[in-house]
Amino acid sequence: MDKDKPILAIVVPCYNEAEVLRQTTERLLAVLGDMEDVEGRILYVNDGSEDATWDLIGRLHAEDKRILGISLAANSGHQSALMAGLATAMPFSDFIVTIDADLQDDETVIKDMMQLAMKGNDIVYGVRSSRASDTWFKRTTAQMFYRLMAWMGVKTVYNHADFRLMSRRAVQALLCYEERNLFLRGIVPMLGYRSSQVEYARKKRRAGESKYPLGKMVGFAFDGITSFSMKLVHMVLWMGIVFLLTALGIALWVFVCIAQQKTITGWASLMLSVWLCSGCVLIGIGIVGEYVGKIYMEVKHRPRYNIKDERL
Ligand code: UDP
Ligand code: MG
Repeated sequence: MDKDKPILAIVVPCYNEAEVLRQTTERLLAVLGDMEDVEGRILYVNDGSEDATWDLIGRLHAEDKRILGISLAANSGHQSALMAGLATAMPFSDFIVTIDADLQDDETVIKDMMQLAMKGNDIVYGVRSSRASDTWFKRTTAQMFYRLMAWMGVKTVYNHADFRLMSRRAVQALLCYEERNLFLRGIVPMLGYRSSQVEYARKKRRAGESKYPLGKMVGFAFDGITSFSMKLVHMVLWMGIVFLLTALGIALWVFVCIAQQKTITGWASLMLSVWLCSGCVLIGIGIVGEYVGKIYMEVKHRPRYNIKDERL
């Protein structure tokens, strides 16, 4: 092993990817072979696959010692599999790239990512310049997702999924975010390290099927929003205020009706109590929500800061 060369590990989460893994390995090895100034590793994370994925990883490891693998005891989800891979690769890697097993993301830009990393970027995001290969449905729902996230005030990189390069210190910082509801695309920009982007056209899945059906995607989006944004709670509070203002409007209208002697028996008391009570209840929930939200942010134990440079 050449000590001077930085070690680049490519972390690949795999859930039932036996069909595509051999092709993936060939292509990733080709990319690594193309980069003479780094020492490459591939780390497969078997995320509780039910097919032959883990056996195949074992065989690939026997064929080439640059190929490593860990196997999670149960299916823990894409984000947790990524975290497991990052935590495992961090001690022996200088840089880590995460990429999906189906290679929908263009693996050849890893070389550009590495160049940007050598120029001092701790994080390099892979950004999809075109999604022409995705189905209309996937494309539209994904765009809606990014817009919704932005509107909810969650800082994410537009059109970036989990294809990115991170330096060891960025991964070290990331591992200090111990939250269970992992939404890496929200946490990584929070780290604050210098970052850059490379663009690529997203390709079609090479083999097998998407492991992200609509239900899982919606769950993922909801996780992302509720892990980073208090906007939903604020919305409840504002709704309560709107209800109270409506009650005030109705009260004024009641006075007008009384003045014109056009009253309907029971109307004012009914309407006023409905709007007033609903408003009070919503404001109450909103206030409780603010406190629960604060507790929620506290229990995450997120680091308050990350140190970038030192002159000690
Ligand atoms: N994946 C995983 N665990 C899961 C679901 C998916 O490790 O529970 C992996 C999967 O093997 C793939 C990546 O996450 O490498 C992205 O999944 P997929 O390509 O199916 O998602 P899509 O590209 O359709 O959004
Ligand atoms: Mg995919």
